[in-house]
Amino acid sequence: MSAVDKREIIKIKNVNKSYGDVQVLKNIDLEVYNGEVLVLLGPSGSGKSTLLKIINGLENIQTGEVLINEEVYNCKNGVAVSGKKRAEVGMVFQQYNLYPHMTVLDNVTLAVRKVKKKTKEDAMAIAIPILRKVGLEEKIHFYPSQLSGGEQQRVAIVRSLAMQPKVMLFDEPTSALDVELINEVLDTLIQLSKDGMTMVVVTHELSFARRVATRVAFLDKGELIEIGKPHDIIMHPKMERTKLFMNKIH
Ligand code: ADP
Ligand code: MG
Repeated sequence: MSAVDKREIIKIKNVNKSYGDVQVLKNIDLEVYNGEVLVLLGPSGSGKSTLLKIINGLENIQTGEVLINEEVYNCKNGVAVSGKKRAEVGMVFQQYNLYPHMTVLDNVTLAVRKVKKKTKEDAMAIAIPILRKVGLEEKIHFYPSQLSGGEQQRVAIVRSLAMQPKVMLFDEPTSALDVELINEVLDTLIQLSKDGMTMVVVTHELSFARRVATRVAFLDKGELIEIGKPHDIIMHPKMERTKLFMNKIH
């Protein structure tokens, strides 16, 4: 496991989020430490995706604030940073949404060129070593349709990494994959954590959580119910709602 230090890289303070009259996150307070892998667990509709989008500045909030490295990213007055700054927080979704008409290399370098204003050569110099690292070097001139689901998801991960984020958020990155492809994506996440990347991962892969997470947080109906060491939260939760959930998915 990578070294985790006690510096807070993400700080979520008293966040409340509603869609219309429906409150989907309630008084969320949460820190993510430098180098840690925080796994978010919770039933469907508990607010996991919304929380990730708030961290990333894709959704506004009604109260509170989100700080990344002590800088306000998101607050009740709106997202506080530019698109370029927001690229410091990478996000990978269940659906990888690659551009079908573009090669792997073009998919991965597009934002680096457009958002970070790098030349094609500079963007390639950033992207190719990362593609090599995740075993996609041979596929750089392929189109998404020529890749497996696991390879496409790894391309999506590289596309985020090429922006040189300080934090990576993963929203059920293996849920759309056939079982035999899940591990190749999880292995990429494990590699990233070994390299010291700070990650927040929404997943139902409990074995991954137990092996890789530094902490596990359990969300239910918009509330952060419990957070702690993977073994404690998954095997010996204290709260009744966590127990019920774990019994259902074990
Ligand atoms: P999870 O990822 O844990 O399944 P979500 O964060 O996607 O949960 O959703 C939390 C709640 O917010 C759900 O009740 C969902 O219906 C609602 N919700 C999510 N996105 C929107 C939206 N854009 N507009 C209205 N309601 C939404
Ligand atoms: Mg979700």
